[in-house]
Amino acid sequence: MTEDVFKKSTANLKKAVPLMMKNHVAATPANYALWYTYVDNSMPKLNLELESVIENYGICPPGAGERLYNKHVATQSETKLSDLRANIEILVNEVASSMNDTLNDTSQFSAMIDKSFKNLERVEDESMSLDDVMAVVRQLVDESRDIRHSTSFLSNQLNTASKEISRLKNQLAEVQRDALFDSLSGLYNRRSFDNDVHTLCQSGQNFCLILADIDHFKHYNDSYGHLFGDSVIRGLARRLQSSCRDGITAYRFGGEEFAIIVPNRSLRVARQFAESLRRAVEKLSIKDRRSGKQVGNITASFGVTERHEDECAEPLIERTDQLLYEAKQLGRNRVMPV
Ligand code: GH3
Ligand code: MG
Ligand code: MG
Repeated sequence: MTEDVFKKSTANLKKAVPLMMKNHVAATPANYALWYTYVDNSMPKLNLELESVIENYGICPPGAGERLYNKHVATQSETKLSDLRANIEILVNEVASSMNDTLNDTSQFSAMIDKSFKNLERVEDESMSLDDVMAVVRQLVDESRDIRHSTSFLSNQLNTASKEISRLKNQLAEVQRDALFDSLSGLYNRRSFDNDVHTLCQSGQNFCLILADIDHFKHYNDSYGHLFGDSVIRGLARRLQSSCRDGITAYRFGGEEFAIIVPNRSLRVARQFAESLRRAVEKLSIKDRRSGKQVGNITASFGVTERHEDECAEPLIERTDQLLYEAKQLGRNRVMPV
């Protein structure tokens, strides 16, 4: 990185992180990218829209953040995101190591001053010659010339900055460790779902929840093998993903279960959406690699609820799960409530 780019990245990162915290934004790569672009002022349209979200909600809910990310940032190609992630990492490492160098310099300098003063104290005791005294002074001057920073005030400041950097480093490591995406289906994972649902509930946003479960899934595993079962999960996930737009988000909830968050829509609209998903799944067929045959008749059951005012995540999920259970009881391949 050139020095200018490096300085700019540092400034942007320092601006973005506190704003993300203030707006209850999770430390995800996409959010880093979104808020980095925001403070960079490189996309005035994104800034206007993000500011209007904050004005409306008081915070930036995950769904809205994600919509903005997809609309403005992700379209610049996914490689940009990994570039950015790599840049943040390089930046954090560079700042951390330069901070460490400076801290070392500072403590070396203090040690050197102590030593020089001790030498000077010997002047009276041991009647050092003027040449000896000058040698000590010269040493002091020479060594201090290499030292960039020297006061204990600065040392404290650097210590604080260094702590902040290592906190950021840990945050970044955490982001990478707990990937947001499910590796089999490519959808957001359960952790993302839990985060989004809790944040949406806390911010009081209106949304509907859909839970979907593949019917008789065990049968596919038993008849065609576990790998085929995996292909069914992937195929169904692709169907869900391609139907989700305008802020509607699909997650892999667990095994062969999926969750879909439908923000700012009525129960009627969310139910219709679930019905369209059900029909899309019905049309799905997956090739069995062993026999070369297409396997169809894949169906799923759905439960749909609208969040009650002040309802938190657990009872909402419970209610939706209950409707899904009823859909199974009534014969599967259906959406509840009717
Ligand atoms: P129902 O219609 O009542 O939902 O029946 P079901 O067979 O779909 O449901 P059940 O809960 O009995 O079985 C789900 C199976 O999904 C059990 C588990 O072995 C399998 N499963 C869970 N995760 C995965 C996965 O990642 N890959 C594969 N291939 N199978 C999985
Ligand atoms: Mg299940
Ligand atoms: Mg099932």
